[in-house]
Amino acid sequence: MSVSTAAVDRSVRTPLPVLGRDVTVPLVTGGEVTYAALDYAASAPALQRVWDDVAAYAPYYGSVHRGAGYLSQLSTDLFENARRTVAEFLDCRTGDQVVFTRSTTDSLNLLATALPEDCEVFVFETEHHASLLPWRGARVTCLDAPDSPRAAVTALERALADRDPYGTALVCVTGASNVTGELWPVRELAAAAHAHGARIVLDAAQLAPHHPVSVRDLDVDWVVFSGHKLYAPFGSGVLAGRADWLRAAEPYLAGGGASRKVTRGADGGVDVEWHEGAARHEAGSPNVIGAYAIASACKALTEAGFEALAAREEALVRVVRDGLADVPGVRFLSLFGDEAPRVGVLSFVVEGWNSSHFAAALSAEYGIGVRDGLFCAHPLLRRLLGGDGRAQGECGAPEAASGEKSLNAIRVSFGAGT
Ligand code: PLP
Repeated sequence: MSVSTAAVDRSVRTPLPVLGRDVTVPLVTGGEVTYAALDYAASAPALQRVWDDVAAYAPYYGSVHRGAGYLSQLSTDLFENARRTVAEFLDCRTGDQVVFTRSTTDSLNLLATALPEDCEVFVFETEHHASLLPWRGARVTCLDAPDSPRAAVTALERALADRDPYGTALVCVTGASNVTGELWPVRELAAAAHAHGARIVLDAAQLAPHHPVSVRDLDVDWVVFSGHKLYAPFGSGVLAGRADWLRAAEPYLAGGGASRKVTRGADGGVDVEWHEGAARHEAGSPNVIGAYAIASACKALTEAGFEALAAREEALVRVVRDGLADVPGVRFLSLFGDEAPRVGVLSFVVEGWNSSHFAAALSAEYGIGVRDGLFCAHPLLRRLLGGDGRAQGECGAPEAASGEKSLNAIRVSFGAGT
């Protein structure tokens, strides 16, 4: 395999240094090599700038919204400023709320608890499980994988046209696939949703680290993403968008911070008035460092400019494609065609190879870290690989030996620092 990034290094440099770029790992063949982290779609190493900002703040943190002291005020300001920075990063509308959560999964689960009664949910089978599964209790319509962006819009329009026009509905769609990296026609899907009286939430877990996301311009009702894919630490995420459903919903967690007034009830129990703003869904002491780190990453990405990152990722995708072109039996996975616009994420299988063995060999023999498996998108992987419902990597599925038909895939993904 002739994968070399030297040419890319010379032509397009990322302006954003990340931590851990120079980690040296041992090889089974002897010697050692600089580790190549090519799994940014799972979790991206923290940006140096994010790390520096967090380290500068860490010695001073105090309780948020709960103290008159200097450190408390400082933490409260940092937390609320982080909210404003994220709102700016996402180009939110006046009146939109930014709620800090634990992750994309957490944000979508929060939104699921805020659905109006009898809300119908529309998703494509191509979604990550975080978008497919949180809608327990709602009627879920799962649409077949489309073979083009236009077909996606048409399929959604058709499905929405058939729904009860007086009921509420939510469409949940990814901005960029975590499997193929392909960009989805978010603006057109949002227009279709709104034309049929539905709302739409954008899963930007894979989009936000690579592309500017404008809530206003895309006209989506909510957007969600995770800190750990946006060069910030684990355990922080965002749900941003329309306030009305969030204000009308029961708090996601009950406790201090979400409550405005708590009294002994006339019936001997406890009565509570909840906050109406973002705090309603942020009970307990919030993850201030996580929120601050996300805000720091948002600023760093905005200052660096997405064009420079995109140019580099595009070049790296080309390097991998060209390098693998010589390997017999390689097939790239795509819904919209190999040349469709994508972020720096691509997946492939190699005929006759078990993908897990292939990924393990890349790590052990070359020091290249990629992801293998079904990428928490089982229906999509089955669609793309033609699996029979028992794919490798699932609990209870038998391990396929090298040489058997591979029912999982290998994913290579890039970001700042690669
Ligand atoms: N949505 C997409 C498209 C993803 O790629 C992922 C994670 O891989 C998620 C949602 C879930 O993100 P998290 O695990 O941070 O909740």
